[in-house]
Amino acid sequence: MINENFLLLPSSYLFSEVARRRREFERANPHADIIRMDIGDVTLPVFPVVCDAMHAAVDDMACKEGFHGYAPEQGYEFLRDAIAAYDYQQRGIAIDSDEIFVSDGAKSDLGNLGDIFSSHAVVALADPGYPVYSDSNVMDGRGGDCLPHGRFSHFIYLDSCSDNGFTVPLPDSRPDIIILCSPCNPTGTAMTRSEAATWVNYANANECVIIFDSAYESYVRSKDVVRSIYEIEGAHRCAIEVRSFSKSAGFTGIRCGYTVVPKELMCRDRIGNRYQLHQLWMRRQSTRFNGVGYIVQRAAASLYTPEGQRSIREATDLYLRNATVIRESLGQAGFITYGGTDSPYVWATLHGEKQDSWRLFDSILDKYRISTTPGCGFGRNGEGYVRFTGFNTEELTLRAMERINY
Ligand SMILES: *Cc1c(COP(=O)(O)O)cnc(C)c1O
Repeated sequence: MINENFLLLPSSYLFSEVARRRREFERANPHADIIRMDIGDVTLPVFPVVCDAMHAAVDDMACKEGFHGYAPEQGYEFLRDAIAAYDYQQRGIAIDSDEIFVSDGAKSDLGNLGDIFSSHAVVALADPGYPVYSDSNVMDGRGGDCLPHGRFSHFIYLDSCSDNGFTVPLPDSRPDIIILCSPCNPTGTAMTRSEAATWVNYANANECVIIFDSAYESYVRSKDVVRSIYEIEGAHRCAIEVRSFSKSAGFTGIRCGYTVVPKELMCRDRIGNRYQLHQLWMRRQSTRFNGVGYIVQRAAASLYTPEGQRSIREATDLYLRNATVIRESLGQAGFITYGGTDSPYVWATLHGEKQDSWRLFDSILDKYRISTTPGCGFGRNGEGYVRFTGFNTEELTLRAMERINY
């Protein structure tokens, strides 16, 4: 018998439909020269410092003294120590290296974390949001029944919309798990310190666990925006943080990320006994995961050097400049925009009468020869919006925006 939860999943036609419409437009307009602002992947090549580290690690593996077989399930100490020092302790945040679990990326961890929670746990998630949050919890049986607009009866939807500036409101009833993403994909909005404190206080008061996806923390430039949930007092008692080298250092093809599970973080069983989630996650990882490759962990560790940090800064600065150009140009052309300051994403709609996301997508493609991602693919509240990304080159981003402001 199959896991019938899979039958409940909405079909994921979004990106294939974007590609289909793009190709069709190209066929009808062979000289259209479409510029892609729908890219959900970084485009700069891997940094030299990372390539050097990987080459050296390959040479290690080729000799008896340097060979590395199975890696520790939690990750090599050299990498966990560097993460703890650079990403937390240097920023005044107390996280110990044995609270860090190295992984092959944030998407895996976001899905796998479901293993340590009850299938009856109630999950709260933002709409619009990264589709993995909903889909992976539906696979684990936490969705309940299908509702219209790809929604599920057991989830608590946190409605992000123009009324609240695409921030994420507190739930009306108590969830067990709250999934938050800041800076947010797709809306580009980022949580201020006081907004994050509101969530941490809510979670501690109501014994909820926050899963904080900060895949885009390296894009944060505003002083009042959090990079880590652990900047907030009390977060160690309620939050798991999921991070990735994908968007910061172009590791989408190398595959590495990490998850922080503080030892203080406790969660109850059915009869009220409290357990360390750290212990459960450790058990889960050492049973179902066999560690990240030595070469990849050396690659990640090279980011925690002055040159590695400089490279991350330069790459994210470039994508942020693109996002700024997009946001400003769209604003001048009569769009309402969100994001694009501490994020590579700009979330946009037109002033005036709302049209659906696909019509907006088609009209932008038709008028400007720019392809975007329809917001309806990220939830009901995404309807009427499209997502632009700053991941294209500076040159093509400028050319695309000249078309809009022509
Ligand atoms: C890209 C992305 C991830 C996944 O990152 P990987 O480490 O490449 O798996 C996670 N969360 C969000 C919101 C993302 O946009």
